[in-house]
Amino acid sequence: MKNGNNRTIAIIGSGPAGSTLASFLAKKGADVTVFDDGRRPDLIVGESLIPALIPVLRKLDLEERVAAICQHKPGVSFTLSKDEQIDFTFQSLAGSPMPTYAYNSPRPALDCLLEKRADELGVKRARVRAKVERANGDRLRLSDETLSQAPWLKGKQPDLLVDSTGRARLFARTLEIPAELGPRKDVAYFAHYDGCELPTPTGQVIIGRLENGWCWRIPLRDSLSIGVVLNKDDAAKFGTTPEERLEGIINHDPRLAAAGVKRRRVTEVATYTNYQLVSTRGHGPGWVMTGDAFGFVDPMLSPGMWLALRSGELLAESLDDLAGYSREMRKLIKAWMALIEYFYDGRIFAMYKTGMFFENKYPGKVSMFMHDFFNKKIACMAAGLTTASFSGHCLLQLFAGPATWKTDPEPLAIR
Ligand SMILES: Cc1cc2nc3c(=O)[nH]c(=O)nc-3n(C[C@H](O)[C@H](O)[C@H](O)COP(=O)(O)OP(=O)(O)OC[C@H]3O[C@@H](n4cnc5c(N)ncnc54)[C@H](O)[C@@H]3O)c2cc1C
Repeated sequence: MKNGNNRTIAIIGSGPAGSTLASFLAKKGADVTVFDDGRRPDLIVGESLIPALIPVLRKLDLEERVAAICQHKPGVSFTLSKDEQIDFTFQSLAGSPMPTYAYNSPRPALDCLLEKRADELGVKRARVRAKVERANGDRLRLSDETLSQAPWLKGKQPDLLVDSTGRARLFARTLEIPAELGPRKDVAYFAHYDGCELPTPTGQVIIGRLENGWCWRIPLRDSLSIGVVLNKDDAAKFGTTPEERLEGIINHDPRLAAAGVKRRRVTEVATYTNYQLVSTRGHGPGWVMTGDAFGFVDPMLSPGMWLALRSGELLAESLDDLAGYSREMRKLIKAWMALIEYFYDGRIFAMYKTGMFFENKYPGKVSMFMHDFFNKKIACMAAGLTTASFSGHCLLQLFAGPATWKTDPEPLAIR
């Protein structure tokens, strides 16, 4: 393959991963074409963003424009039961290189901003639902019809093809590359509402334990996004249509029902299934995957959008080392998976409760220090700053054991 900026690069898919990669490559002067049909649903998941995304937006000179359409997000609260809530604030990141806030985004509008930025930077755009074909071995080529939609390529296959098609996983499907599936077989339903009681402080995201799963409340500028995530069989008990199920689950949960007594649904209900999967290969000769096409962890802790943007940023820096890029992506995905497991199996909440027990029993400077130290460590990992750090995961392991002596994580687990 050609070196440096001489190569032609085709990115399939203009979601967050594709647009971010396109922008970073264009900034380096590369010859980039994005293939996307421009169709986007009115409702897309990926609304709750983490602080680590902000430095990427800043590098794209986009934070101001993003802030103008987004809701400021000061932190996340976890409701464990009707009366028990744990509040995390990104203020615990003070003194770290991370911003002490994040955003809740109206996804289609955010995608448009990312796309527009790529266009401003000189990316070429072919408005087509792209098709690729297996060439020889595990090589890929754009179909003739797709190639013809980008006449500036003069019928020549690009030097590098990038799969940014998200869950469509275009390259993996074409090459029959299997995926490692996650343990959860969840379905998610969500919609936007108005008339709801809004979380405090303004913009705080609420993650709630449900009897058979979990739910989110993500405040946007003009509405509240409510989503529920649960096992498919359990979801089916609440009705036959997505609307019936979402309504049924909201009504069944005391906290959700109380917050939404006067709710009015202002969008359709969207459904997402089978999303925990990671491709067993992330690159091959002349092709590479980014974002969800590479792999998606889980909606818990909201790493998806950051991984999408980070994969674009990372790939733009690693064009000459696709194997290194794939390794780094796999490392990030695994690190998020490991962190998220602590939330699903209840160990993180057991650690918190045990910590509070000792803090109340032995108040003083040591307890305060431990509290701040632990909060900061968890915040840095959940914000995306140190998620993949060896020391962070060691610390979690170290604390998880003793925490369970005092608090049983089992009843705190999310089913
Ligand atoms: C239930 C659920 C909740 C989630 N909540 C959050 C959250 O709160 N926060 C968060 O950060 N993440 C969340 N995510 C994850 C997040 O939505 C994704 O990680 C993110 O959208 C990935 O971006 P992407 O660019 O890789 O893919 P996508 O956003 O899927 O973009 C892919 C693009 O490729 C286009 N495309 C597909 N096929 C073709 C083709 N053949 N030719 C041309 N174009 C094509 C599509 O039209 C689309 O525009 C959630 C995911 C799920 C399932």
